[in-house]
Amino acid sequence: MKKDLFDFLNTDLQFVKGVGPVLAARLNDVIGGRRVLDFMLHRPSGVRPRTVTDCASAATPGQTITIELQVKSVRTARSFRGRRVPTQIVCADRAGDVVTIQFFNSNFLEYWLKKLPVGAWRIVSGKLERSGTRNIINHPEFIEELENISRIPSMQVIYPAGEGVTQKTFANIRDQVFAALPDRLAGADENTREFFDALHDIHFPDSADALLPNAAAPAKLAYYELLAHQSAIAISRRARLDVRNRRAVRAKKYDLMDRFYASLSFELTGAQRRTLDEIFADMSRDIPMMRLVQGDVGSGKTIVALAAAVHMAERAGQTALLAPTDTLAQQHYAKLKPMCDKIGIVCDVLTGRDKGAARREKLISLRSGRTRIVVGTHALFSDDVEYKDLGLVVIDEQHRFGVAQREALRAKGAHPDMLALSATPIPRTLSMTMYGDMDVSVINEKPAGRLPIRTSKIPMSRIDELTAHLAPQIAAGAKVFWVCPLVEDGEDTTMTAASARHEYLEKYFPSVGLVHGQMDKKRRDAVMAEFADDNSAMKILVATTVIEVGIDVPRATIIVIENAERFGLAALHQLRGRVGRGNLQSYCILLFGRAVGDDGLRRLDVLCETDDGFAIAEQDLMMRGVGELIGTRQSGWIQYHFVDYRMHRDLFRLASRAAMDGTTDDGWTRDLMYIFDRGDTISA
Ligand code: ADP
Ligand code: MG
Repeated sequence: MKKDLFDFLNTDLQFVKGVGPVLAARLNDVIGGRRVLDFMLHRPSGVRPRTVTDCASAATPGQTITIELQVKSVRTARSFRGRRVPTQIVCADRAGDVVTIQFFNSNFLEYWLKKLPVGAWRIVSGKLERSGTRNIINHPEFIEELENISRIPSMQVIYPAGEGVTQKTFANIRDQVFAALPDRLAGADENTREFFDALHDIHFPDSADALLPNAAAPAKLAYYELLAHQSAIAISRRARLDVRNRRAVRAKKYDLMDRFYASLSFELTGAQRRTLDEIFADMSRDIPMMRLVQGDVGSGKTIVALAAAVHMAERAGQTALLAPTDTLAQQHYAKLKPMCDKIGIVCDVLTGRDKGAARREKLISLRSGRTRIVVGTHALFSDDVEYKDLGLVVIDEQHRFGVAQREALRAKGAHPDMLALSATPIPRTLSMTMYGDMDVSVINEKPAGRLPIRTSKIPMSRIDELTAHLAPQIAAGAKVFWVCPLVEDGEDTTMTAASARHEYLEKYFPSVGLVHGQMDKKRRDAVMAEFADDNSAMKILVATTVIEVGIDVPRATIIVIENAERFGLAALHQLRGRVGRGNLQSYCILLFGRAVGDDGLRRLDVLCETDDGFAIAEQDLMMRGVGELIGTRQSGWIQYHFVDYRMHRDLFRLASRAAMDGTTDDGWTRDLMYIFDRGDTISA
């Protein structure tokens, strides 16, 4: 790829006009990256027509309308009885009905007001809302003079919702990015052009049909994505076989395993033992292990990883355990440290938070080989981190990391073994194509004595009843997660919904916590930590979907999920896994809204009936199309941008054949692999 284009794709979104660091951080949460490239790969979920109308009262609230309005009067923002009233521009439409345009944010107010002089007719486009009989348009997207109606597109492209990121923000970024692209593509080859043309087409579709998985541009992108993925798998498989006979098999030097087993306060499950047998067999071969362990949240993967690390320590090697976030790294460390102490193995943690002398000391201990097990984030493969003898790399939540990151850590040792952990069950039919370079172990058995989570669904209208039921449970020591969903239309509504729920619950309970995506990360972590603390008074935590996968709060035995119908099954199953981590009976309550529909109810029934992540993943795969659901990117196992499992089976075959042939082992395929690698090169 040309350097110019490459640099452009890698530009941090904060440098796009009107974005800035705060919004870029939110975008990172929503689209899983913060580069221009990550934005380009963020696929719109649909289009919404802009209904041209003469009469606002005749249109349905929620519709995006384009309408001619005459400005009657302007009332600037003020306070009224302690409430903030936004700036209001009162207008009349052709039918003579009143339509009020409102601006809450006064930053660009002057700019907007200049576009709306009193007495003038303007053509305005935005989402119609109605309060009583009042027609309202908040923050219109377009205000034009009548003769410029052609500047208003006939439909709006909708991006999957994200907390604190509005459709307007998406549109702004899209317009700027694609306006800058042609210059960067000057002199690019045919393949590159075709690829970016296809990307352009999905961001500027000319009809709703143009976004269907089998339409020209989406299908082309799906093929490219599969080709990138299958080629990465083929290369990794070849590389692994290449080192055959070049890796010394490690001899056992110490006896630690017995002490490890003796230190456990429980028996390993059959599935854990079987998985360990497979791991130990791999680790004694002359080609590096490359194994994926899949198991539901709570199935006991961490212990399995620790056992593998102890096995490696017996053979004088070091283990690095890579976690996707600071919080999860600290949590792993808190759990593993006491166990390692018992066995007499030195365990340490290394994240971006470690600085100065303390960090230097940790690095020395790693370099000397004294530290046998190190838990951490991407700090584990910083340039200045050296290992004496890195023998095993464990990657938790492996889908959160790109190939490049995996390789960076692997390069710190001499052909180290790799063990990936995943709590997102992938149906067997898919795992072959998705993880063709890995052997897979499945932990399909929960530790004994674990009670299945009781799951039920009830309508939102019974929320007061539910609240009344929670009181005695909380009095008896239960802690409650209360999850609010993303609201489709961005703006501040997701946060508003969570805040409103927080306010509501505070009327009934003394200390209710709140975390959402627009809080700064430190405060968010502090609230989470308070909730997790057994002794704190905080019994309920209202959260948007920001609560981490894998976060451990043993006293949390109840999870309430609002508008559960808006989540994918995999996401719901993962959320549910936040409870049921101890030996207490746990409950999951799925609240559904009025718009749930029969399909929605059937989907929720799947969760009420089974606790088996694999069965749920299978159902999820059968029941939904890509992009129908909100928040899918964070939800777990949708890891492709453009590939639709149900629609693109033939493309799978084509791509893997091309990748195997090696006919694709050229510069362009490398570019594709770079483009679709999940690893973000800008460290946040
Ligand atoms: P995962 O990483 O798969 O979500 P963990 O390894 O964190 O699960 O295990 C969840 C909890 O279950 C931990 O507190 C762990 O100590 C415990 N645990 C793991 N294996 C067993 C077992 N065989 N019997 C009883 N408890 C277990
Ligand atoms: Mg875990």
